[in-house]
Amino acid sequence: MEYYVAQKVKETWGKKPCDHPKLEKEYYAGAFLVNWICTQCGREFTIAEKLGMDQERKHVHDMA
Ligand SMILES: [Zn+2]
Repeated sequence: MEYYVAQKVKETWGKKPCDHPKLEKEYYAGAFLVNWICTQCGREFTIAEKLGMDQERKHVHDMA
């Protein structure tokens, strides 16, 4: 998701809760940035945060 689109999404979403169902790599002017963006609420995640989230979800999935 492009940087400025993410800012718009974030503005539109506001402060509603979000469980961040889908993350996309952030890019700007065609170049990928290091962060990931939630396509629903526009929140930015670092690579470390995304990895942690992936592992948490995998764990939850394994338990189910
Ligand atoms: Zn989100």
